[in-house]
Amino acid sequence: MISIQGKGVSTGIAVGPIYFYRRADSTVRRYEVSDRDAEWARFKAAQEKAIAELGELAEKARAEAGDEAAMLFETHQIMVKDMDYEEAIEAGIKESGLNAEAAVSDAGEMQAAAFAAMDDDYFKARAADVKDISTRLVGILLGVVQGGIDSDVPVILASDDLAPSETVQLDKSKILGFITSGGSGSSHTAILARTMGIPAIIGVGDKLKAEYEGREVIIDGSTGAIALDPDDATRAQLMKKRADLLKRQALLNELKGKPNETKDGQRIRVYCNIGSPSDVHTVLENDGGGVGLFRSEFLYLECDDYPTEDYQFEAYKKVLSDMGDKEVVIRTLDIGADKQIDYFNLPKEENPAMGNRALRICLTRPEIFKTQLRALYRASAYGHLCIMFPMVTSVWEVREAKKMCELVKKELTAEGKPYSEDVQVGIMIETPAAAVISDRLAKEVDFFSCGTNDLTQYTLACDRQNNDLGRFFNAHHPAVLRLLKLVCDNAHKNGIWVGICGELGADLELTETFLSIGIDELSVSPRSVLPLRQKIRETNARAVHEGCLAALASDVTPL
Ligand code: PEP
Ligand code: MG
Repeated sequence: MISIQGKGVSTGIAVGPIYFYRRADSTVRRYEVSDRDAEWARFKAAQEKAIAELGELAEKARAEAGDEAAMLFETHQIMVKDMDYEEAIEAGIKESGLNAEAAVSDAGEMQAAAFAAMDDDYFKARAADVKDISTRLVGILLGVVQGGIDSDVPVILASDDLAPSETVQLDKSKILGFITSGGSGSSHTAILARTMGIPAIIGVGDKLKAEYEGREVIIDGSTGAIALDPDDATRAQLMKKRADLLKRQALLNELKGKPNETKDGQRIRVYCNIGSPSDVHTVLENDGGGVGLFRSEFLYLECDDYPTEDYQFEAYKKVLSDMGDKEVVIRTLDIGADKQIDYFNLPKEENPAMGNRALRICLTRPEIFKTQLRALYRASAYGHLCIMFPMVTSVWEVREAKKMCELVKKELTAEGKPYSEDVQVGIMIETPAAAVISDRLAKEVDFFSCGTNDLTQYTLACDRQNNDLGRFFNAHHPAVLRLLKLVCDNAHKNGIWVGICGELGADLELTETFLSIGIDELSVSPRSVLPLRQKIRETNARAVHEGCLAALASDVTPL
């Protein structure tokens, strides 16, 4: 047995074969083939595979975002078999003797250029579709693994690190757990693992070796322990721990339907953070009271091009209608920093966490912002929507964003498209600037939600992506907690509610503090709802109130 120690960032015990993530290299090389018929047969096999893959994607999209989203993939299925397209590929292979990858790539370029030159907007837009199907076909021909995993059985996925865009595209049914060499607990990959309820361990450095591929491993996401080729004693010990965890979960399940109320009657709302419409079922399964943060940018990360208004509308509508009358806070696009999207063509930045990200992109590229807001307001007719803007630092940004909301509502009214008049508009408090001027910001919006991941990063000048910073990244730092209290006081003075949607919300060591400062809502990963409810129900808020506030105000705080 080989024991490896990392840092556990998503709890649970998983056992399975270790599998290394395959990154795509889709560079097309050109060469002449000796057997043109065999090459044509190779293309036809790839075409069949593409049709099957697109069928699966259509079904997945239908389940997650409705019929309109599925139609995109069904259109691609038809385009892969298009006669003109296929004839151009056939000519490339049979007449010019080209390898299939090059013939597909040439035919794709040619057809895309022809579509792009057309006057009709509908046909112009098909250029991107042709490029998309060509990329898929080339990927299949090159043996590039879609979604990074080519295994028939579920695996423990190992990688140097995973970008959020890679994580969202993984086939989740194939993943039992994650291990990464790098990473950090507050990175979006760790956050996604927690949202999906998949055990994860990060920061194992160079202790993962390629020759371990396929060997059995047991990972413990709470301690960060990894047992490769486990011996009988270790296996028995970890399996017992897994059984105990299941028993504990069964006990927690008894809390479903019970209020999040302290022993002395103080209530707090416990909502969930999600990254995709398909996460809603885990919110309901864990009895989440609403969605406190839907990270809408993950929709963008899953796409190869800007998602259209209709595509987004279907996704938001699905979340809202599946949540029924429960509140759903959808955050507008928050890309930049670690969430990079190629098709945005953003210039490379020295300090992306402090660069052009989130609301800054929306305000400088209003067409993108408007498309999203139109989709959101249209979806508001199907549930209880709250819209939230990320990365705010100034009052003018909020006013400009709200102006765009007004413009969108006016347009929808003129077009006769229904929307709810009761959409609350709020902001994330995740920069020290926003926290410090929260008295003024509170006059502009209906609610605040504190993004403690970024608030900690910016307050402590400590990169949330960098695992080596370890204990320097401390969300319990009094500077962070005092800012939270300030925000909470300013919200309540102005009659608005305030929540926490950063990872700190699920930190049971701080639940009493959050109750004491009067936080109204905690939004956490679905699996954290019931443990949090248990903690709240065990607390006597009045008894801890003075102590918590005194500790916050004290100048002998340990840090
Ligand atoms: C946060 O910063 O705390 C937050 C909730 O947003 P994200 O983690 O997506 O940056
Ligand atoms: Mg943030």
